[in-house]
Amino acid sequence: MGCTASDVARALRAVSEVVAEHRDELVELDRVIGDADHGENLQRGFSAVVSTLDTAVPETPGAVLKVAATTLISKVGGAAGPLYGTGFLRAATTLADRSELDPAGVAGALRAGLEGVRARGKAEQGDATMVDALIPAVEAAERAAEAGDGIAEVLSAAADAADKGAESTVPLVARKGRASYLGERSVGHLDPGARSTALLLRALAGAAR
Ligand code: ADP
Ligand code: MG
Ligand code: MG
Repeated sequence: MGCTASDVARALRAVSEVVAEHRDELVELDRVIGDADHGENLQRGFSAVVSTLDTAVPETPGAVLKVAATTLISKVGGAAGPLYGTGFLRAATTLADRSELDPAGVAGALRAGLEGVRARGKAEQGDATMVDALIPAVEAAERAAEAGDGIAEVLSAAADAADKGAESTVPLVARKGRASYLGERSVGHLDPGARSTALLLRALAGAAR
């Protein structure tokens, strides 16, 4: 079963709900090693995405993701807005004008999103950022798609891997973003962006079930 523009729009609404539910958690994570705005930033961004999609849903999955990208880039200050925005934009670009996504298409969009985040933020694996959740998630999604799994399974494999990847940031020294200003004092804390990436993927997986 393929994934259409309206499926992608529904998935983004699910993301917005999950971000709203976890707003305070993300704020608290960011309070410890950043400036306590990650939950606020993402909630503002994704609720703006939903508002835009309420006016009209574009015709292709790529066009929906592009609307999300431009909204996140324009509405969210701080690091995460442009990073997620660039990720969504790269995903949109790689999908071009395809009208429906199969499991490999979903994995390919996630791969492109990762490349966008990396291009924008220049973080490597192990720098204690959202990239530490996203890399294993993309790899798991690709393995699942390769094995013939459906879209829901591909996304839940990605979400499971992202949870583990996010947890892997706890013992790390942050080397990018605000948390890096703390140096060794960033050790022992879950990176807020890695946590939000895991939440986003869990929301996408839930929407695909
Ligand atoms: P800000 O730090 O500007 O307040 P947010 O709090 O919204 O922005 O987002 C912080 C998150 O952004 C971090 O937890 C981290 O995961 C991510 N991040 C910051 N800088 C980078 C980067 N250069 N590459 C990848 N992710 C980054
Ligand atoms: Mg912050
Ligand atoms: Mg900030």
